[in-house]
Amino acid sequence: METSVQVLRGVGVQRAAQLEKLGIRTIQDLLLHYPRGYVDLSRPHSIQSAPLDGPCAVLATVVKKSGETRIRGGMKLYKVTVEDTSGSMELTFFNNRYAVDALSYDTPYLFYGRVEGNFLRRSMASPMVYPLRPDRPFFPIYRLTAGLSGRVLANLVDQALERSPALPEVLPSAIREEHDLWGIGEAIRAIHHPASLEEAQQARRRFIFEELFTLAVGMGILKSRTHGSTAVAMHPCDLQPFYDALPFPLTDAQRRAIEELTADMCRSIPANRLVQGDVGSGKTMVAAAGAWFAWKSGAQSALMAPTELLAQQHYENLSKLLGKLGMQVGLLTGSHTAAQKRKIREALATGKIDLCIGTHALLTQGVEFQNLGLVVTDEQHRFGVAQRALLQQKGPRAHTLVMSATPIPRTLALMIYGELDLSVIDQMPPGRQPVKTYKISSPKQDRAFGFIREHLDKGFQAYIVCPLVEGAQEVGLHAATDYLEELSQKYFKGYRLGLLHGRMKAAEKERVMSSFKRGEIQLLVSTTVVEVGVDVPNAVIMLVENAERFGLSQLHQLRGRVGRGKVQSYCILVSDSRASETLDRLQMLCRSSNGFEIAEYDLKTRGPGNFLGQEQHGLPRMRIADLSTDLREVEEAQLAAQQLLREDPQVTAPEHAPLREAVERLIQAVGGRPN
Ligand code: ADP
Ligand code: MG
Repeated sequence: METSVQVLRGVGVQRAAQLEKLGIRTIQDLLLHYPRGYVDLSRPHSIQSAPLDGPCAVLATVVKKSGETRIRGGMKLYKVTVEDTSGSMELTFFNNRYAVDALSYDTPYLFYGRVEGNFLRRSMASPMVYPLRPDRPFFPIYRLTAGLSGRVLANLVDQALERSPALPEVLPSAIREEHDLWGIGEAIRAIHHPASLEEAQQARRRFIFEELFTLAVGMGILKSRTHGSTAVAMHPCDLQPFYDALPFPLTDAQRRAIEELTADMCRSIPANRLVQGDVGSGKTMVAAAGAWFAWKSGAQSALMAPTELLAQQHYENLSKLLGKLGMQVGLLTGSHTAAQKRKIREALATGKIDLCIGTHALLTQGVEFQNLGLVVTDEQHRFGVAQRALLQQKGPRAHTLVMSATPIPRTLALMIYGELDLSVIDQMPPGRQPVKTYKISSPKQDRAFGFIREHLDKGFQAYIVCPLVEGAQEVGLHAATDYLEELSQKYFKGYRLGLLHGRMKAAEKERVMSSFKRGEIQLLVSTTVVEVGVDVPNAVIMLVENAERFGLSQLHQLRGRVGRGKVQSYCILVSDSRASETLDRLQMLCRSSNGFEIAEYDLKTRGPGNFLGQEQHGLPRMRIADLSTDLREVEEAQLAAQQLLREDPQVTAPEHAPLREAVERLIQAVGGRPN
């Protein structure tokens, strides 16, 4: 099964490269390239009875091929007349001489497409042509890539099936029986060539289950590696000195979360707590309290943030706050020099640093803690599951706190974190006013710029976010700088503008960000790097261009950059999209300032950058299951996985060998190390 696709007829270097783009290297990959759907050829129509309101299959025989006609633009057009007992129909093919030549006069074909015309004259443009195969009533539709047609791919899959492949059976038979799932051989045939839609459904169900089950087992193993059975139990202590050191009183919700966390930390069972609170609800204080609490018991803490910007900001705030209380706070990011890193590593290993804030750099080898008691992951959804597991390995006896503004369904949370306790911060710090949100179209943007100028004149600051430079090369960079230039020449002459984007060096970003914080930069033009966590309370307007390109939760995060002080803040969404769905989505954001409500809506409508996109939960990309909708299946698979792990915790039983292999592949895919 690990045989390369190159053994198949018609697969040379070029074809292999195309297949590789789809992630297909081996015969097995090819067979596991599941169809996205099927062309229904099961009940072909006669020419006269074909409906005119949608695509359908018509069974007919070729009676005439006209020659080639050239039309404008150098296109070549071919006409073919087909007949059945009910009448005749004219087919047009564009630039596809090959398809026309291949049609024979002797056998009927199924022509699939949209029938047009009236009772007397019927026609079909660019039909798909299928041979009549009563044993293949549904033709599979595959995800394709440039240069690779559906027909070619289907043919390759057929060749692979003809080799009578013995795919490994990942699902133990007991589980298949219990959940009424087909075996791999039957299922793989049925998913590519179902005899009925029910069969296709059954086959899909099996593969969805298989995928989720493998994932659940993999997560279970990852967790079992990191969750030691005992943790450092902290000494109970009065939190008042911590509260007294804060510049503001905490909200009840914050205090509740802190009390729940610190109570957990006093037990010798490792705490595993998720703090969920909307953008701006003050989650950082919970992390600070936890770190302080651990320090009182002589333990170290680590706080991992997804971006340098955020790590830097946490460092500035927390070193000030906790330094006052006598704690040593350190910062470790990728942009430190080797010498700086060595110094911090030493201080960590000898216990001189009490709280270390950092990015992924915390995960690198050689970072050792003397006595790690609490591991905090901020904006957890931005990390891969394996990354979090790695941090955990730095302190096998540490308690865990994860913080997030994006709620995820309970069942999925269970899979990702295992059993975890939840603290919800459902209250904003006092004095916050909801951010007023408006949607405008670009002709009105001039007025919005004027509105921004008025606020800058009053001493406030603002953001303009545009979807530039994301992943783009030099072109994008130029576009961003050009745009900054245009803004400062045309609309913001005499104002101090700054540019921030993901392709800048960390030190440069930091410089821009801190000068924005100090108010030297009045207007920050940025890509979505400001999305998570950035906190500048004097910034009161957030203008987002091409708002339709962002997911709702992402827009909500962006909006969360303003409204952090006591002044009325504004979010202006610029979009010229006319799609009613997009308008509805943006309107939803104008109406609601509740992150949970927004996430729920996002989940239901599934727009761009849906919050359960891969970036948002760190799980590997699914081939067939859908983590935002197949929740019942997630739960079923999770239960089955737990049952299996109870009997065979490391999946080492010989009969589980195929499962073990699949799980290892998956763990590697999420960046973990297999045992
Ligand atoms: P998030 O939950 O989005 O991580 P932060 O922890 O960054 O929120 O807090 C947002 C802002 O609110 C920060 O400027 C922080 O100092 C401030 N803040 C947090 N808690 C309170 C509070 N109880 N009262 C007033 N301001 C607070
Ligand atoms: Mg935060």
